[in-house]
Amino acid sequence: MSFARLGLSAPILDAVKAQGYDTPTPIQLAAIPAIIEGRDMMAAAQTGTGKTAGFTLPLLERLVKGKPANHNQVRALVLTPTRELAAQVAESVELYGKNLPLSSFVVYGGVKINPQMMRLRRGADILVATPGRLLDLFNQGAIKFDHLEVLVLDEADRMLDMGFIHDIKKIIKVLPAKRQNLMFSATFSDDIRALAKGLIHDPVEVSV
Ligand code: AMP
Repeated sequence: MSFARLGLSAPILDAVKAQGYDTPTPIQLAAIPAIIEGRDMMAAAQTGTGKTAGFTLPLLERLVKGKPANHNQVRALVLTPTRELAAQVAESVELYGKNLPLSSFVVYGGVKINPQMMRLRRGADILVATPGRLLDLFNQGAIKFDHLEVLVLDEADRMLDMGFIHDIKKIIKVLPAKRQNLMFSATFSDDIRALAKGLIHDPVEVSV
């Protein structure tokens, strides 16, 4: 099975080819068509399985196919537990989306908030963020979610372990109800299932 058969368009396939990938990994085979279709997803996948491309590639595909309502507003939000992971995911978004007319930005704590606020004025289609800093920025009016279409929780189990549950719940409350939800986690604990319950609808479940 090749990437071309998964429903990705030429500019994305070119970016994948440039990375030297020729065969999708199992998580990519399962996730890419389902996410393009607009399904919610719960995926049990560890780092190293290719999960980042597994959600980034179809996310880019959906955003580039849909009509942007407003160039200055966030259409996809990816939450990650740490700044290192946020930076890594943002790098993948840039890399796989390099041939597309989509913009992305990454925000995390531990650095000055003002430059992030300034940059957010120009907007971004895809925002990658750690939960605490994202809430600070939202509370200061630097981000609007009126046009949000897709929410991704990456390494959801680590976010819960790090105590981000309240921040995540506050963030979810301010998002439009009609959206696609994707949750990636190394394991599905009871806590993860409880979080998923109010959040994810009729998901495709994938375990690799
Ligand atoms: P991840 O599990 O998302 O952290 O990805 C692990 C590593 O696998 C990353 O360095 C990717 O660049 C690489 N990778 C992702 N998908 C593929 C693929 N289909 N073929 C070869 N390498 C890949």
